[in-house]
Parts: sequence; structure tokens; C-alpha cells
Amino acid sequence: MLDLTPKTVTERGALRVNPCKTCQPVGALYAALGVHKCMPHSHGSQGCVSYHRTFLTRHFKEPAIAASSSFTEGASVFGGGPNLRTAVKNIFDIYNPDIIAVHTTCLSETIGDDLNSYILEMSLPDDKTVVHSNTPSYVGSHITGYANMLSGFIRYLADAHAAGNGKTAVFPGFVNPGDIREIKRMLELLGLSFIVFPDQSGVMDAPMTNTYQMYPEGGTTIDEIRALGGCARVLSLGRFSCEAPADALEKKCGVPYVSLPLPIGVAATDEFVMAAAGPDGSVPGELDDERGRLLDLMLDANPYFYNKTLAVFGDPDTVLGLTAFTLELGMKPKYVITGTPGDAFVRQARAVLDRFGIVDAKVKAAADLFELHQWIKNEPVDLLLGTSYGKQIAKAEDIPMVRAGFPVLDRYGHSYMPIVGYQGAMRLAELVANALMDRQDRDCADEDMDVVM
Ligand code: SF4
Repeated sequence: MLDLTPKTVTERGALRVNPCKTCQPVGALYAALGVHKCMPHSHGSQGCVSYHRTFLTRHFKEPAIAASSSFTEGASVFGGGPNLRTAVKNIFDIYNPDIIAVHTTCLSETIGDDLNSYILEMSLPDDKTVVHSNTPSYVGSHITGYANMLSGFIRYLADAHAAGNGKTAVFPGFVNPGDIREIKRMLELLGLSFIVFPDQSGVMDAPMTNTYQMYPEGGTTIDEIRALGGCARVLSLGRFSCEAPADALEKKCGVPYVSLPLPIGVAATDEFVMAAAGPDGSVPGELDDERGRLLDLMLDANPYFYNKTLAVFGDPDTVLGLTAFTLELGMKPKYVITGTPGDAFVRQARAVLDRFGIVDAKVKAAADLFELHQWIKNEPVDLLLGTSYGKQIAKAEDIPMVRAGFPVLDRYGHSYMPIVGYQGAMRLAELVANALMDRQDRDCADEDMDVVM
């Protein structure tokens, strides 16, 4: 279906074709789903929230709940305050969450609705809370919206006078529930007392029980968000998705943070483990063993990785992690793009590539998959690594593809399986090796088709 993509690249200032991102409220909604008994609320028209919910549901294969202020012409002209007041009353009456997390949309941002005032003027039932964040979609991406919503929770709830609890707060980045489970498992092995915020595990991968639970067991509790103010430190994983909320917590409550990359691959996981382990640096043998097994796999399969070129695309933190890991595998990232705007991505990706002596890779933020396809038409790669939206390029150019990141809409099971930590890296290495070896089997002569590699 993309056979007509032209080879000649024309620089485009404003137009994006097949953008490598989605809109801020999608990230805000996902952040809110990581809070226990929280109803995400979209302050805008019903069409927006239908899209956002559908998008998340398709990735996680789980219902993504959210309510809407249901703007029509009247609210669009005179403001959405009355709609929000009615919505908040109805949501607490009918759905009974502990907290409503409101995010704005393009429409409510454009007319200038003042959510702060609306919420301050509301009379809420006892023990019920409403927070908000501004998420205009003409700025940033779903990653920006995710960071903004986390900052919103902190602004409203984190308690600057909370008693010191000595805990480590971990902001896990825009990752799947399976990744959060893996991060928590590693923290437990390291013997840490911690709060993970947000925590979509147990919400967006809740077990089938035969009974629909609007609010599954998982999620960071409101008390835990309040207690963030009393934590000893924050480990913020993913500079684009979590540095801003970590900064907001430090400014409000004085909790220092360490900003780390997503722990994808060997070096980034080492960095996470050493930061989490604290000053004495002791690491349990189980994690040492996992690391050793990962290195063993990487060495065994190295002939299949070595010098293979690839394109990496998706969210900035994930792409930086995947790029670093494929370099560790001996591969050569040729194209590294994200749809999220910002020069910081280009600088950080260049720094990762420089560490491995790669100077000729094309790196771009605010990029789209149309242009990536054009680059590939001019100079092909051996593998695509990224979101489902690369599959048309894979088909048009007959290139093997491994799906990773967000969204993965056309496969199952990915949201349960980690790509972070040493175990996640083993899974990634297996996926990449198998994709390359499947291609080799498909293309080789019959006499070279062997069952032993
Ligand atoms: S109008 Fe804005 S908020 Fe609504 S779906 Fe479109 S980009 Fe997202």
C-alpha cells in the first residue's frame, strides 16, 4: 500500500505524514490509569476521548476507562465550566472513583478554559479529589501529556510536609505494565523500600476473573502520591517522560532526583541497578546471574547481529534505549527517529551513537514515517525496530520487523512482556535474532537451509 512513496525527499516545514507520535491526552490518560481508583476525564468533546480510549485499548487489549465533558457548540463558545461541574458530580455519583484526573484537549485549551478555577470552585464529596493537567495537543506528543499529567498529580497531591519515609520513589517512564512488573521485581531483589508512580501493572494487565472490575487492584494509591513528598530520593527513568515530574516534585517537596535512561540494554540496566543499589553498591547474585546470561546470549548470537543495519522509531526514551541496545548487540542503527519534537532527542541519540563510533546515522525528532520510508527507499536497512506503524514500510520494502514500544496494535502479549532490565533485554535479543534468522532461512538456497545454526 505504500508502493507509491517517492524516493525524492522534499523538506516539509509543517506537514507530517504518518507521524511517529499521537496527541497529549493519550499520554495523560495512560498516566491517570496508573493511579488506583482513578477516573481519567477528558475536558473536551466526545470524539477526542473516544479516539484516546480506543488507541489505548487497541494497544493493551484491555478497556481504558475515561469520562468526557462532552462539549457541544454551547460549551465551545461559552466555556466548559458547567459541563465539568455536571460531569464531576455524575462521575462520583455513578462510578464512585476516589479521584478524577482531568486533562484538557485542543478545544478546551484553545478557548482558554481555566481548569484551576473550575476545580477550586467545586464543592466535592468528602474524601474525593479532582486534579488536572493542561495537555494541548498542538504542543509535544503523548509523551509530553504523560509527563504533564504526572506533574499535575504531584502539584495537587504530593505533600511537602509528609513525614520522611526513607523510601525510593521510582517514576518508571512511559512503558508497558510488563516493564513495570520487571522494574518492581528488580527493586525487590535489591531490597529497596519503594513507591512506583504511576503503576499501570494490575490495571492495564489485570487478570481475567469473570467479573468486570472498573477499578482493578493495581495503581499507585493517593496516599502513596502524597507520601512522595517524604521520599528520600527519586529515580526517574526516561528523561522525556519523567524528568519534568521529578523536577516538579523536587521543587515542591525538596526530594532530590536522579534522571536515568530507560533501563533497556546492558549499560542502561547497569546504570539503573547501580543507582538503585545505593552507596554500598551491593547487587544480589540473582541480578548478576541474569546479566551474565544476557551477555552469553549476546555473544552466542553475535554473528547474526554483527553489522546488521536497522531503523529505530517510536517514543524518544524507548528509541534511545533500543538504539543503545542494538549497538551493544553489534548492530548499526542507520535511522533513529521519534515523532516527539525537541533537539534534546537528537543530542542524546547522537551521544549514544558516538559512544559506538557511528557518525553517519540519520537522527531526527518531530519526524514521520513517510520520510523514514523515503530514506529506506534510497538506502535500505536489514531490520525495522519500532511501533506497528512501521509494518506498511516493512511490507512495501520486504524488510523484517520487530515490534517494540508504543503502540503495538497488531500483535498480542507484548504489554505483558518486559523489554527493560536484563530479562527484557534477553527477550529483545531473542526477537531480533529470530527475525533476522527467519529472513535468512527464507532467502537462503535449499542446500544452505540447516536446522543447526
Ligand atoms: S482534537 Fe486534539 S485532543 Fe482531540 S483527538 Fe485531535 S489532537 Fe487529540
